[in-house]
Amino acid sequence: MVNGKAGKALCAAAACMLALGGCGSTARTESAQAPVRAAPTPVVQQPATATTATAPGVASGKTLVQWLGQAATRIITPGGKVIVIDPWLTTNPRTPEGFRHVHSLGKVDLILVTHAHMDHFADAPAMARLYNAPVYGPAGLNQSMVHLGMLPSELSPRFNKGGTISPLGPGIRITATHAEHSSELTWRNPATGKDETHVGGEPVGFLIELENGFKIWHMGDTGLFGDMRLIGEYYKPDLILIPIGGHYVMDPKDAAVATRDMIRPRYAIPIHYGTNPQLKGTPEEFARAMGNSPIGILNMKPGDALQF
Ligand SMILES: [Zn+2]
Repeated sequence: MVNGKAGKALCAAAACMLALGGCGSTARTESAQAPVRAAPTPVVQQPATATTATAPGVASGKTLVQWLGQAATRIITPGGKVIVIDPWLTTNPRTPEGFRHVHSLGKVDLILVTHAHMDHFADAPAMARLYNAPVYGPAGLNQSMVHLGMLPSELSPRFNKGGTISPLGPGIRITATHAEHSSELTWRNPATGKDETHVGGEPVGFLIELENGFKIWHMGDTGLFGDMRLIGEYYKPDLILIPIGGHYVMDPKDAAVATRDMIRPRYAIPIHYGTNPQLKGTPEEFARAMGNSPIGILNMKPGDALQF
């Protein structure tokens, strides 16, 4: 279904992003045709600064999605729950200064970790303890966290790919999906001072269905795989957060094939680029590779937040 009114609303939001410096100059959003399904209007929040690292206001019934660099993402649900995915904040070079502390988010109800690599996992145990919020990740990672004494078992429950959980109540459903990656857990043993590698489970993505039915797929770190099409057809995510940096994950061309030809969401936020020299892919390359697809590419700066 093509919805021209929704397309105009999206264009207005894109202009707003450009004015705030939240959009790359060649991002395709401004020329986006109407999304395939009826589109909510993303409303851009002011980018975070050192003094504004508090929860942004969310309009009633809306979902806020805030990207904090690499894969770190904060979601505030329509019911006011705060979900943090892949919290690497304290040493993340792309995270705005005001968010580089585990206490900077103010409130966290649930932490999701896609795999054990430090650019996704680093601050999860400290954040879980501070907010008394459980960490859900690959089962093997959760088991290692308990066995290594990083977290008590009540903050490190197990679930696994294909399973769906509702730890925040029945209105929010979280399903772990496949991701084509690895998940070693490296840890410095305090008794020996030596680095060790432990079981980190299998990497996952998270399909999150919110109270109002809005569906977000945070894909974690992944290469291209055929079941992206199945996941797109079966779960019908409205919004995907998709890695584009290359080297360890999909590059912009792969990500465009996944988005345009396989998953077909309404919106895509490119993530996992620009934090180190190997992650060369850019949102501009991703937008170019998407061609004239009607899917809205939302090019964010770390700290930017959108409402849906
Ligand atoms: Zn990564």
